[in-house]
Amino acid sequence: MDMGNRDTIGRRILILGGTTEARELAGLLVDAGYDVITSLAGRTGTPRFPPGIVRIGGFGGREGLARYIRDNCIDMLVDATHPFAAQISINCVAAALDAEVPLLRLERPAWQKPDGTTWVEVGTAQDAADALPRGARVLLTVGRQELGPFLARKGCHYTARMIEVPAGLPDDWQVIAARGPFTLEDELRLMQDRGITHLVTKNSGGTQVAGKLAAAARLSIPIIVIRRPNLPKAEAVDSVIRAHKSVTRIFRTG
Ligand code: NAP
Repeated sequence: MDMGNRDTIGRRILILGGTTEARELAGLLVDAGYDVITSLAGRTGTPRFPPGIVRIGGFGGREGLARYIRDNCIDMLVDATHPFAAQISINCVAAALDAEVPLLRLERPAWQKPDGTTWVEVGTAQDAADALPRGARVLLTVGRQELGPFLARKGCHYTARMIEVPAGLPDDWQVIAARGPFTLEDELRLMQDRGITHLVTKNSGGTQVAGKLAAAARLSIPIIVIRRPNLPKAEAVDSVIRAHKSVTRIFRTG
């Protein structure tokens, strides 16, 4: 373990987290000797804590985040939030400009269409719900914040999997409270047991929950994929290792 050197000691990095990659990066940077604060939104009751310091809750928009950066003498911002957490990523770009600190975005690559599948790309959860044929038996893996359009799309049967289940879902929904990773075998069993005819997912990317795509492909189940939101431009990398290297480079040259 590298316990720090003149490039890292006293350098304070704020990671906007809530993802596996954010946790892994925090571990690498703490080991390298940086002061690391990870910020979590506080959406889940049982978050997984990364190494280093953790703070929880919103900042109060762009201004609040810029103020936090200044008040806490942050030297660099890393946006390692989920690709669908668009508002916080927009705020990161603006606040980094306001507070005059470098920003790096860690963005895992999007999933690509598996060979031989029916892959329907849509822009929103509403479009995904509209794309479902009447009578579809749907494996819904879009997270609890996006359920509205599917609650309104009657005539389908839903198996909905999410980390934390909100109260008040209809009795005829089958709800699975679970957090990945899920293996290909887990996903094949689930889809076969529930007689799934359609998979609905966000294009979250990453390996942890990608087994559902391979399982759907193998069972010839059409995949309805919600595209990622567009984000303002920022320096970006697509892996934890590259993020670590970029942080090192930015402090060496900065
Ligand atoms: P969002 O719509 O982009 O953010 C809404 C507001 O939540 C932000 O304006 C900010 O409030 C606060 N916020 C979001 N992430 C934060 C963080 N890491 N630390 C402090 N405040 C944060 O985000 P979301 O889609 O609700 O996602 C919330 C968190 O869950 C993200 O950190 C993300 O990494 C994680 N997550 C999201 C998804 C998803 O599909 N959206 C999936 C897995 C994990 P203020 O304006 O008050 O600062």
